[in-house]
Amino acid sequence: MPNESRASESCDGLIHPKAIEGMHFFNEGKFFDAHEELETAWREETDDIRDLYRGILQIAVTYLHITRNNYDGAVKVYARSLKWIHGWRDVCRGIHVKGLREDAERVMKEVERLGRERLGEFDTSLFKPVQWNEKRTWACDRCGSLMVEKNCKVTCPNCGNRFDCSDLNLYFD
Ligand SMILES: [Zn+2]
Repeated sequence: MPNESRASESCDGLIHPKAIEGMHFFNEGKFFDAHEELETAWREETDDIRDLYRGILQIAVTYLHITRNNYDGAVKVYARSLKWIHGWRDVCRGIHVKGLREDAERVMKEVERLGRERLGEFDTSLFKPVQWNEKRTWACDRCGSLMVEKNCKVTCPNCGNRFDCSDLNLYFD
């Protein structure tokens, strides 16, 4: 099993909006739609984080196969997903990657226990939602650019306008 550490800078920054849509579908059990949105995020993203989107996409496809009683498909796609969902920080871009990995492991243990013949008996309540926190963003009050929070500092990339998150609670909460 791959366990190399990925560049942790990839874990800073925002989740691609299509990946967020995909995870919403995932959590509704709409695994085909989840796959579509995550694929768009994977295609549009240039940072290494795209690999994580691909991993989540493959978990969605694995679950889709399970709901369609496709044992071999589920086992094959899950095996493929491992290299994309390992090596990240436990929480990366606000996505709870460790929780997702553990949920998928539990699902696949059950799939293997049931085996090809009894996969139809799979209890879909084992499909747990992906958890994530969306970072807050603000429009700069001086120039209107998008400001992003990082380590409690909120900085405008355009004009350098800056807040500290302790000030932000006064202004924005
Ligand atoms: Zn600005």
